Amino acid sequence: MTFAELGLRAELLRALDDAGYSEPTPIQAKAIPTVMQGKDLMAAAQTGTGKTAGFTLPLLENMSRKAVAGQKFRPVRALILTPTRELAAQVHESVRTYGKHLPLRSTVVFGGVSINPQMMTLRKGVDILVATPGRLLDLVQQNALQLDRVETLILDEADRMLDMGFIHDIKKVLKLVPKQKQTLLFSATFSEEIKQLADKLLNRPELIEVAPRNTTAERITQRIHPVDRDRKRELLSYLIGDGDWRQVLVFTRTKHGANRLTEQLQKDGITAAAIHGNKSQGARTRALSDFKSGKVRTLVATDIAARGIDIDQLPYVVNYELPNVPEDYVHRIGRTGRAEREGVAVSLVCVDENSFMRNIERLIKSQVEKVVVPGFEPDPNIKPEPIQLGQKRPGGQNRPAKPRGGSGNPRARQNEGGRSNRSRRQRRA
Ligand code: AMP
Repeated sequence: MTFAELGLRAELLRALDDAGYSEPTPIQAKAIPTVMQGKDLMAAAQTGTGKTAGFTLPLLENMSRKAVAGQKFRPVRALILTPTRELAAQVHESVRTYGKHLPLRSTVVFGGVSINPQMMTLRKGVDILVATPGRLLDLVQQNALQLDRVETLILDEADRMLDMGFIHDIKKVLKLVPKQKQTLLFSATFSEEIKQLADKLLNRPELIEVAPRNTTAERITQRIHPVDRDRKRELLSYLIGDGDWRQVLVFTRTKHGANRLTEQLQKDGITAAAIHGNKSQGARTRALSDFKSGKVRTLVATDIAARGIDIDQLPYVVNYELPNVPEDYVHRIGRTGRAEREGVAVSLVCVDENSFMRNIERLIKSQVEKVVVPGFEPDPNIKPEPIQLGQKRPGGQNRPAKPRGGSGNPRARQNEGGRSNRSRRQRRA
């Protein structure tokens, strides 16, 4: 199967050639014809599968068929919603990459940066808008934008948007776009909540599923290093130094933990930067570009901040702390072993986290190999302690976490970019 056989126009084929893509990935081969036929789509696909091109290419094709070049005012005809700023920026980058030989205009808007330049760009008119929900609604409120001419609505990483408490914002956006439109929904997982949203949103959708990472993870070597909780940092520095690891993405459970670990690694002589929701947009962008360029060897991230980070050939992912939501493990390790390349995903697991690991292994339906690193043998006398998760409800209130094995909402998590942030921003404004 080639991209040409899918019926994409020459300008898109040229852009794909420039990007060096020779054939469509499975999600692209399935999604492109469906979207080109104008059908609604519900797709189960994670980052790393090529899903972004899977919706961007047919979108650009469809929009080019109804070209509006020369028209004075360009209303937004396609709206792509994403949960995080990083993902919004990346999706927009894809729109630009694939659309570079086409006369369509696009822009991206997200919070954490000045709203004025965004308002000015929108006033000139754009065909394709990539946005995070909070800033999009702020712009509508300020009359910088109308959504009544939207023909295609795309929700990317819809599960994350719900996790981050964006459901009310999404409902508001739905009232602003026309009823008659094409809607595409991409989600890594299909929870009951997502299915309910899809029921409301989609009109007789085509369903597409590509094998999730957890069943196609042969490219990823997974390993557990059992270690005492107080010796994790030491072990991490040892692994990075001894293995001469470059470009290591390290996950912590909390923003505070990310900051603390970054400082400790720096003290150990390992260049490191943290990326999480409390960092300014500038700091996040800088950290990511230093990491990509190799100036910084280790990027320490929380789950939500790391969503959608697209780094080619990321060789190492470390779970410094295991996630309390097993699906997050799959997302995390999906950062490595991309595009047919080998990757290593290492989890430093202390006695407190054994039940998290069991839940993960149940989800991925396999046992991860345990390797004790000589000199870091866990002390069998250390007793497990409950893990404080510091969760926040989407409503913004803090509440103490239930101890491990508790029956609290398993999807509640630190809310980094959702409503609480937004209301904080609004309070500041
Ligand atoms: P995504 O799942 O959209 O985040 O894409 C994952 C990665 O795969 C990105 O780095 C893309 O640039 C790359 N990619 C997308 N489509 C293809 C393709 N057909 N061939 C090779 N790489 C691709």
